[in-house]
Amino acid sequence: MVERVQADPVVQISGAREIARDLLVVPDRNVELVPNIGLIGGREAVLVVETGMGPRNAETVLEFAEEYARGRRLYLTTTHFHPEHSFGAQVFAGSATYLVNQAQAEDLSRKGPGYLEMFRGLGQAVARRLEGVELVRPDVVYPREHHLDLGGRVVRLRATGRAHSRGDQVIQVLDADVLFTGDLVETGRFAIFPWFPPHDTDVSGPRWLAVLERLAAEPPRVVVPGHGAVGDAGLLADVRDYLALLRDETWRRRASAMSEESIVAEISALMIQRHPEWAGREWLERGVRCLCAEPTEPTEPPERAGS
Ligand SMILES: [Zn+2]
Repeated sequence: MVERVQADPVVQISGAREIARDLLVVPDRNVELVPNIGLIGGREAVLVVETGMGPRNAETVLEFAEEYARGRRLYLTTTHFHPEHSFGAQVFAGSATYLVNQAQAEDLSRKGPGYLEMFRGLGQAVARRLEGVELVRPDVVYPREHHLDLGGRVVRLRATGRAHSRGDQVIQVLDADVLFTGDLVETGRFAIFPWFPPHDTDVSGPRWLAVLERLAAEPPRVVVPGHGAVGDAGLLADVRDYLALLRDETWRRRASAMSEESIVAEISALMIQRHPEWAGREWLERGVRCLCAEPTEPTEPPERAGS
């Protein structure tokens, strides 16, 4: 087996820091397949964002959340169904109310088992983290948008429409002007296109770009990306600009009937030259191939967030 991922994707609470009043981020420490995890507190309740990958990580997160909550009620949500974000939800059953948008719940039931299998093949450390995973149904499923009142603090959960996955969700803490984006934004790395035809072709470059354009049009004060350092609205602009360039340069070459192999080679070189410090170069090829397969004009009506 090729060990694509060697580091143990373990969540460590020790680096947790308060980025706004009663709002914590447990940072990913730049460890692959560890997400940034959020704890958002109100008078009555605490919302946990992301579980970490597998039951043992989720136990760590739940234990910390219970300690932090000091008797306040617990909620859980996840930004999308990918294993490091949601494959620990089983541990929260009975302790927290798990809510997600409809499309994400569907992603989990349709594609969850396949992703579990695929991720087990990434390496032994990952496979160990995934031992004992059971995919559970969320307690509350809402269509597009849900306002969660934590007591003196309202959090807006919003499905963005198909982008990085079909069920992407952003979490907006209105009073603190903080936005959790999931993997729509990752700091300092090339956008990850989970483009695995024929099993999963839901990721869409143009739609992802459209979502980023909408989010960047109302810049939040703080952006918590799916992975990588917390930042400001500049993170949204970085990914937006990258996706726009990736799309335009790929489609221009496709229109000139260049072979897909040549497009991959040219675009990869161009993007690495543009962002020499970014990680995740292995995702460039999938991004280009995804865009090569996508129609220039959207064939579906544009999906809009809630209201
Ligand atoms: Zn992720």
